[in-house]
Amino acid sequence: MKHATATFAGSAASPSDFPRDGLPEVAFLGRSNVGKSSLLNALAGTRGLARVSSDPGRTRLVNFFRVDGVGKPGGSGRGALYFVDLPGYGYAKASKDVRESFEKLAVSYLAGRAPLRLCVFIVDARHEPNERDALLRDWLDHHGLPYLIAANKVDALPRAEAKRREQALAHGIGATAVGVLGVSAERGAGIDELWNRIRAAAFLPPAAQPREGPLEDENLPSTAQDHEH
Ligand code: GDP
Repeated sequence: MKHATATFAGSAASPSDFPRDGLPEVAFLGRSNVGKSSLLNALAGTRGLARVSSDPGRTRLVNFFRVDGVGKPGGSGRGALYFVDLPGYGYAKASKDVRESFEKLAVSYLAGRAPLRLCVFIVDARHEPNERDALLRDWLDHHGLPYLIAANKVDALPRAEAKRREQALAHGIGATAVGVLGVSAERGAGIDELWNRIRAAAFLPPAAQPREGPLEDENLPSTAQDHEH
């Protein structure tokens, strides 16, 4: 990134480890293997950012990355925020206890976290959402959390099929959802627009945030611009 810089800020094993500085937070969640690490790296413009989250000791923790120098909407200066990497779910091989501890920590983060401005709920555009995805979406709806569905790996689908999948995902979306965005962490498609949604959620009051449609493009990190097709 030309202006913004992302650095690992620490892992939390319990709510007492969550940051206390009140910076806006954007959480990333999704089934394991949807491309969560790849997407974090694509947003940060660095390959290594989310590698730290896949360290064996950290995959079950909530990992915080501080991003400084993020251009605010409308060119009103720069600010800092956290990317919050929540544990992936749906490990078929994990024991019930392990699965429950993932969920407990993720829920302890998501429920009542004051600085949380947006959840980026990542799904694999190639697959129908499974039962766990549907449960999570219902849970986000029920708790009134603002979330954006990022349908990743659109590069692996014909364009029309990707659009059809995005429309299917948008069907029945809850009132606090901000929409569905097709992205490709590997090819960079949709990354600029995802950044726009993130900066709007982090720095604009909720009433000023558009639910759909592109925002202005200024102050994009250089890597995101480089990716655009
Ligand atoms: P995580 O478990 O959710 O953190 O997923 P990873 O980022 O490790 O990615 C899982 C797999 O999906 C890897 O093989 C990636 O190469 C692949 N992947 C991630 N993003 C994309 C994408 O945008 N397009 C395609 N085709 N594959 C992707």
